Amino acid sequence: MSGDIVQRFSTLTLNIKPLSRLPLLSDLISSSLPSPSPTVTASQVPSLFREPYILTGYRPVKQDWRCYLLSLFQRHNESLNVWTHLLAGPVLLLRWWANVGALGYTLDASSLPLSLFLVSSFTYLFLSVTAHLLQSHSEHAHYFFFFMDYVGVAVYQYGCSLGHYFYTSEPTWRESYIGLMFLPGAAFFGWLSCAGCCLAKSRYRRPYPLQRKICQLIPTTLAYLLDISPIVHRLFTVSWTQEPSLHFHALQIASFLLSAVFFSFPIPERFFPGQCDFVGHGHQIFHLFLSMCTVFQLEALFQDYARQRDTVVEVFGERQLWWACVSFPALFGCCILTALITMRHMNKQLQGKQDRDK
Ligand SMILES: [Zn+2]
Repeated sequence: MSGDIVQRFSTLTLNIKPLSRLPLLSDLISSSLPSPSPTVTASQVPSLFREPYILTGYRPVKQDWRCYLLSLFQRHNESLNVWTHLLAGPVLLLRWWANVGALGYTLDASSLPLSLFLVSSFTYLFLSVTAHLLQSHSEHAHYFFFFMDYVGVAVYQYGCSLGHYFYTSEPTWRESYIGLMFLPGAAFFGWLSCAGCCLAKSRYRRPYPLQRKICQLIPTTLAYLLDISPIVHRLFTVSWTQEPSLHFHALQIASFLLSAVFFSFPIPERFFPGQCDFVGHGHQIFHLFLSMCTVFQLEALFQDYARQRDTVVEVFGERQLWWACVSFPALFGCCILTALITMRHMNKQLQGKQDRDK
């Protein structure tokens, strides 16, 4: 018996021995990973990558792709652009689970718009993180990932519209001209904002003329004005004391308007050139307010969903809810196609530029 135990113990020891080699293997993996090059100044990267009033902290181009992935843990002028949207994901997920626990949730026709809102939020956060993390690789990568970022913005706009329409809108607003045209209009303006941003990025070169901002801002502003119209109507017609969700809707509008200011103007770096390179430039503040806007939207829409879930199928009909579900991936597909067509056009331009430089 004791011999049997000794035999088993020695077998176990023999089996454990290879495990002791694991740290060596991990050392091997880490030593084979390339390390990102130190950051450089604005004059050391192509003009496409330079941001106004940001003078240092640029990642050099043409490194191994893994260097840009690992730059997640490097200090550069895009670090906080990445982390602001990366951390918004877990915050959103935690608030989702907290609301599921407190207010209840079942995946059915009545919860479809809420689920699509969550999917659209994660889509824009993921595509934004990818763009800011990988765009420095090359001019091709810069255009491709930012075109995809615009796809994310359009999908998010439409995801918000579905939530606003099915859970927050008032019957009187839905019977108005804007209410009747709302869903097709939101899909069209969502696509238009993606197309406008892709066109503006592909057409204009630094220093960017005013037309570029107009091309970006007009379709996105129109899309936002339409998407937010049922909320604004409700804020002015329903007592805020009766519905706590209206406070969150007011906060989502305030956060979005602040984010739009920091997106449109290079502040505060304009007044402190070179001092906001790593922390505090306008795009980071824009990301922060946009993330806050999404969290406030989730709180508001979840409360509206909890209030309306028993009547939403009766009011809108299951068919319209399923159509909303189908239109979401359809818009996603149209936006990806638009981005890819613009990228194809961009590839030809970049190829022509490379041939001329040879
Ligand atoms: Zn961004």
